Amino acid sequence: MAPGSLKTYRKKRDFRNTPEPKGKSTGKRGTKSIFVIHNHAARQLHYDFRLQVGRALKSWAVPKGPSPNPGDKRMAAEVEDHPLDYAKFEGVIPKGEYGAGTVMIWDKGTYRNVTKKNDKEVPITRALKSGHLAVDLDGEKIEGRYALSRIAKGKRPRWLLVKMKDAKANARRNPVKSETKSAVSGRTMKQIEKQKG
Ligand code: MN
Repeated sequence: MAPGSLKTYRKKRDFRNTPEPKGKSTGKRGTKSIFVIHNHAARQLHYDFRLQVGRALKSWAVPKGPSPNPGDKRMAAEVEDHPLDYAKFEGVIPKGEYGAGTVMIWDKGTYRNVTKKNDKEVPITRALKSGHLAVDLDGEKIEGRYALSRIAKGKRPRWLLVKMKDAKANARRNPVKSETKSAVSGRTMKQIEKQKG
């Protein structure tokens, strides 16, 4: 699907019942590209890794979350594009709604597309299409260069999210276990759940 299309995102949700943003199709363009990692306690707890591409957030569900250890290959299932303002969403999706459960902004920051082929820079949209991209992440918990490689095409494309070797690589750090509070509110998943929104 072309980045920026929110059709699937909207079709899956009933905005009368969920506090998630509907998403604007137009708006001011930011100067920097942002990324966000949600911790999402749906049927199965997972992390949603999202990269801004234009007015949308390209999204992957990562069951184990990102790792700063270059030895870890983290499965990332491509899911529907989300609206840019979803990056600010933290709260509870009500029972019975799509993706019901608590959502935390686990990490956020900016990123730079550093994908290259034959020493030439590859634009993010082309990198996504080709199934190979490299990004420099500047978040609070997750930093440095990560590679995303598509390993299976189809209706639900699968990718691997892997830390590349650089100064931020760390085989001993496991932030999904050791850093469990929201990057925006400092709340735990339990505290968000109790506050109901
Ligand atoms: Mn999710």
